[in-house]
Amino acid sequence: RLMFLIILFLSVIVVVGLYYFHSNKSKECANTIFNELLCSLPYGVLALDKSGKIVFYNQLFMEMFGIGSGYINDTALLPEAIVKKLNSLEGSEPIEISIDNKKRYLFVNKSEVKLGNFLDGYLFTFWDITEQELLKDKYKLAYEIFKNSLSAIAITDLKGNIIDINDSFEKITGYTKDEVLGRNISILKSGIHDKDFYANMWSSIKETGKWEGEIWNKKKNNDIYPEYLSIFALYDNEGNQKNYVANFADISDIKRYEERLESLAYYNEITKLPNKKFFISKLKKFIVDYRDKSIAICYLDIDNFRKFMDKHGTEISNNVIYQISNRILPHLRTYDIISHFDDDIFVFVTIYDNQKSFEEYLEKIQWAIYRTITINGEPYNFTSSIGVTIYPEDNDTVDELIRHAQQALYNAKLKGKNKISYYDIIMSKQIAIRKEKYQAIEEGLKNSEFVLFLQPKYNIVKNCIVGAEILVRWQHPKVGLIPPGEFIPYIYNTDLEVEFDKYIFDKAIEAVKYLKNNGIEIKLAINISPKALLDDNLVDYVNSRLSNFDSDIKSLLEIEIIESTSIDNLEKANSILNRFHHLGFGIAVDDFGTGYASLDYIKSLPIDTVKIDRVFVSDMINDPTDLNITEIVILLAKAFNKEIVAEGVESLETASALIKLGCEIFQGYLISKPLPIDDFVNYAKYHQGIKMKLNIENYFNSKDDIEIYAAINSFRRLVEMIKEIGSAKFDQNKYDKIYFNSISWLRNKGMAYFDNKSLYKSIVDKMVKMKEIIDKMNKRDIPQDMYSLYLEELIYTSDLLETLFK
Ligand code: C2E
Ligand code: MG
Ligand code: MG
Repeated sequence: RLMFLIILFLSVIVVVGLYYFHSNKSKECANTIFNELLCSLPYGVLALDKSGKIVFYNQLFMEMFGIGSGYINDTALLPEAIVKKLNSLEGSEPIEISIDNKKRYLFVNKSEVKLGNFLDGYLFTFWDITEQELLKDKYKLAYEIFKNSLSAIAITDLKGNIIDINDSFEKITGYTKDEVLGRNISILKSGIHDKDFYANMWSSIKETGKWEGEIWNKKKNNDIYPEYLSIFALYDNEGNQKNYVANFADISDIKRYEERLESLAYYNEITKLPNKKFFISKLKKFIVDYRDKSIAICYLDIDNFRKFMDKHGTEISNNVIYQISNRILPHLRTYDIISHFDDDIFVFVTIYDNQKSFEEYLEKIQWAIYRTITINGEPYNFTSSIGVTIYPEDNDTVDELIRHAQQALYNAKLKGKNKISYYDIIMSKQIAIRKEKYQAIEEGLKNSEFVLFLQPKYNIVKNCIVGAEILVRWQHPKVGLIPPGEFIPYIYNTDLEVEFDKYIFDKAIEAVKYLKNNGIEIKLAINISPKALLDDNLVDYVNSRLSNFDSDIKSLLEIEIIESTSIDNLEKANSILNRFHHLGFGIAVDDFGTGYASLDYIKSLPIDTVKIDRVFVSDMINDPTDLNITEIVILLAKAFNKEIVAEGVESLETASALIKLGCEIFQGYLISKPLPIDDFVNYAKYHQGIKMKLNIENYFNSKDDIEIYAAINSFRRLVEMIKEIGSAKFDQNKYDKIYFNSISWLRNKGMAYFDNKSLYKSIVDKMVKMKEIIDKMNKRDIPQDMYSLYLEELIYTSDLLETLFK
């Protein structure tokens, strides 16, 4: 309509103009008005007569066509192409012209001007639409970019409802456009991030108009993947947000690449163990984490490995080093850290608890390395040397600590290889401490500061006390009562150890007599040191002392030997134990099941009683593996006709399970703690008259019940421990033990044993599900937020297991 009015207006002007012009009224005046009118128009105007001659034009027309000022009256002045175009026009059309190599877009209207036979011609009006056209191009380009962008783009309204997406969105998320249009962008939420995460994100978008960062989202097929997401807001003219544009790319590959890069930068290529650089940062953290502990830094080097390398070349050598690293790893404690520095050098760090167990730890590693490795059919045995320094006795920087351990290694090599050597300060400090303690114990013995406590062994079926174990305590004049675990290690394997045994033996005879005088005749068991089994010193002494006593006193004595300390010379031990036997002593093996040679012991030594170790008993209803060990120990002892005593019985449940498995003599807190002799006398007298009222109900219907109950408890404990991950309470060692035991039980016995029992089957199914979640959590490669979700699931399933069992 506007166009029509303009044309009408122009036509009037033209007609009026031409009339004046032709009527010759006032040529000059008409020209002036005419030109001014034309110039004031915001359009280009051109009129041609039928012959193509320019009748008139305005300034804007000239500018549009880039024609310099000056009078033109001939179409010849217009570029030929334009004239052609203008002539061929019909009605209104956009045209494209090129002026000074620049494109211009004009909207042209062509209309015939007919005024009878006065004048025939054409009137053209030109609108410059270049800007709009360029904008259109830009829009087109923008759309192409949007459509073809490799990152996914979603445009939403202010509520997050999706208005448009591009192809990559479909490709990355697996959703088609139809599926997502109108739906909320939150369909992509993975559930990994918590509410706070999204709250922060949205407040940033609301306040600053943008947010970017890494985020975990979920695809249509429920796969969760990491993406780099940027969101920005679009604004209306008033400055209010009107839309959001989310732009993201799947960065799983980048993440993997980063990991690979990290692996190159931080790990040894051959063994994939942390390299020196990474190790140093880990060691720094280790020292902070365990600041109240003694920390051993151990520098291990394979003896003569250079020679081996020269002979066999790098490839074989690397392979050997890889095998060696795999042999070291199982012997490390879980919190230990290890590094493969170079060639054949491994450095590892552990907590130094006491000399004995620390050296056992190192020796186990040396043995593991020493086991035969076959190369091209030829057997090889590698020895290794270890240098050790201990922090904070050696209170130096991390670099220096490593250097000191390395120095200690050189000493080990100088001493002839296959040795362990300590950095000097430590050596002297350790020796000084041991010497001091040793002297104090010697002094304590002279002053008779060691007192006996007695802990009853109770036969739960016959309902009577069948014996008691003598457990020593040091009544230290300054410190008070010290348990044996805190002083016996200092005299371990020394001459004082046997002197100590003699002292206890004398006290034991006194105790037997004292009890007898009080009308209590039960066997007392003495723990004797492993060293006393290797020479006749103690048994000679006992023999000479006992000759003064009646045989009934002798028959009230028993010795306990510890199974977990390996006896190198079984023959000698056998002869000494036989001597004890002939003297009338009963012989019990303590801690049965913890050593390496249980079967050897029970077969070849004159043993009367087997004591199942406390570690198995106390966990047997919480750990199916411990339960199985307990069961096997009982079966083994029965097969060899031995008496069986369960140590560390603390609960009625455990007692009930033990009875079901065939063990009826218990020693443990459920019966009584170790008591001073007078208290013990009172206790025993009391129980002589009254039977112990232990309501050991039938907790379990069958052995299977105990086993599944133990398995359920072990999963419950795992979940309890997972809750503590990250806190100071968390005990990695304990966790590893429970994990290992429950999973290996599940994998083997659990699956096979209970497969065909419908109730157990559903329990085992739940456990398998828990195992999968726990495994994911153990890898620690899931985002922190996911933990709580998994944990909830675990707690739920663990509760469910208990309900199912009940
Ligand atoms: P052991 O011979 O295995 O003694 C059993 C240990 O378990 C004792 O610890 C006892 O108090 C503890 N115990 C018994 N029932 C329970 C229970 O229900 N729950 C818990 N948590 N603990 C229980 P104790 O008295 O600290 O003795 C530790 C070790 O020291 C003994 O282990 C033994 O190997 C050694 N020992 C004790 N007295 C002597 C001794 O006179 N001579 C020698 N050479 N060693 C001794
Ligand atoms: Mg004992
Ligand atoms: Mg024991």
